[in-house]
Amino acid sequence: MFSQKCFKDLWHLVGNTPMVELHYRYKNKPGKIYAKVEYYNYSGSIKDRMALYILQEAYRKGTISPTDTIIEATSGNTGISFAAIGRALGHKVKIIMPNWLSKERVDILKSLGAELVLVSKEDGGFLGGLELSRKLAAQGGVFLPLQFENQDNVLEHSHTTAIEICRQLASVGLTVDGVVSGVGTGGTIMGVGKYIKKHHPSAKVCPLEPAESRILSNGSKCGCHRIQGFTDEFIPRIVQLSELDSVIPVSDGDSILIAQKLAQQLGLAVGISSGCNIAGAIRLREQLGDNSVVVTFIADDNKKYLSTDLVKEEPVKDEYVAKDLVFDGFRTIPRLNEPIIPM
Ligand code: PMP
Repeated sequence: MFSQKCFKDLWHLVGNTPMVELHYRYKNKPGKIYAKVEYYNYSGSIKDRMALYILQEAYRKGTISPTDTIIEATSGNTGISFAAIGRALGHKVKIIMPNWLSKERVDILKSLGAELVLVSKEDGGFLGGLELSRKLAAQGGVFLPLQFENQDNVLEHSHTTAIEICRQLASVGLTVDGVVSGVGTGGTIMGVGKYIKKHHPSAKVCPLEPAESRILSNGSKCGCHRIQGFTDEFIPRIVQLSELDSVIPVSDGDSILIAQKLAQQLGLAVGISSGCNIAGAIRLREQLGDNSVVVTFIADDNKKYLSTDLVKEEPVKDEYVAKDLVFDGFRTIPRLNEPIIPM
């Protein structure tokens, strides 16, 4: 089933996403930020990039066999990506995930033919799931992508996402001054950050964290938040805070309100983490100045969150970016003429 051609075909369906220049008024001043629209990927999220790259590199290095079952402990999007791309390459896929995540995620995984193992808080939650994946792998016939520690997760974003950002901005005469992204595994911010820091040394690369659970600032879990996809139980091994600029906190309520505004004011139906990323980008642009070019990510769309607080009324607080924010349009910066195929 596996061939180089399968990967080549898939690289035409993963990555090379469009970018939007979002126009808004914040505290009565006009502003612009830039966002890669990652729900155009094969299975609908930014995680397809690292799933495809990790599997491609595993075949290249000979660490996966075509008959292996792919097993991953994940909060959702990664599971959906490995289920979709794993099946496209002919693999069985087993996903271990916490049992408190949205029903849509569970149903999507089942629809893609993945076997699901749900882990309760009492059975160790996220960390219990990771331990279970290692135990199952010890029995053989298993490939573990290990997204939290696999450097290929970082490299994909250096080899494609970051280059796309620079080329798309260059196509409209711009260069990057700042990048922000919330941290799930940290693959996006570390990989994009490494490339951007090398080619634009003065650019700021800022990770975001939920204001309700400031794991990056405090070093350990200290609360609960509603931004699915952002880890808060441990700092992933691939995250090197010393290579990044300051951590920006964003409240989960603010993230929800901004995601709602993007849908209601622009018809851009995004997930909760995208609301968080946009809030962070607006905050960083406030710091860097009116002419600065700040880029972030619309990691997925709203479809997996229709049973969550994303579609409920959310109280507005004084400190929120959403309180003084109106979106009034966007322009699209098209995809590259040819996708970058990192083979
Ligand atoms: N947003 C969503 C919705 C996600 O699922 C994830 C990853 N779990 C991220 C953002 C963060 O991406 P990364 O793992 O590259 O830090």
